[in-house]
Amino acid sequence: MTKDKLKYFEGKLSAEKKLLEEELKTVGRRNPHNPNDWEPKYTNTNTDTADQLEVAEELENYQNNIAILNNLESKYNEVLKAIEKIHQNKYGICEMGGEFIEIDRLEANPSAKTCKKHMN
Ligand SMILES: [Zn+2]
Repeated sequence: MTKDKLKYFEGKLSAEKKLLEEELKTVGRRNPHNPNDWEPKYTNTNTDTADQLEVAEELENYQNNIAILNNLESKYNEVLKAIEKIHQNKYGICEMGGEFIEIDRLEANPSAKTCKKHMN
């Protein structure tokens, strides 16, 4: 891959990273002990004064947040890995077969880890 193309994909990936961080912040917060890990936000309803319905809603929100957070976090980690690969000169190489990943596939998903043949 040419240097220009790499720069181009690096730009796309860092834009995606920023966007994912913004989304992650709405449902979670960074683990203070591990900045690469995110934990779900727990909105602190006072359980002494809240009625049962409120507590139940709170719990449901929390569970939704966990699902959203896990999904976002795995995307986020893939983006981070892809950026790392750019720095290690391994970007755009299929993890299964070691061949180059098609540019149009990277265009659609810049953090793709495999070529089209190995995508499933
Ligand atoms: Zn492959």
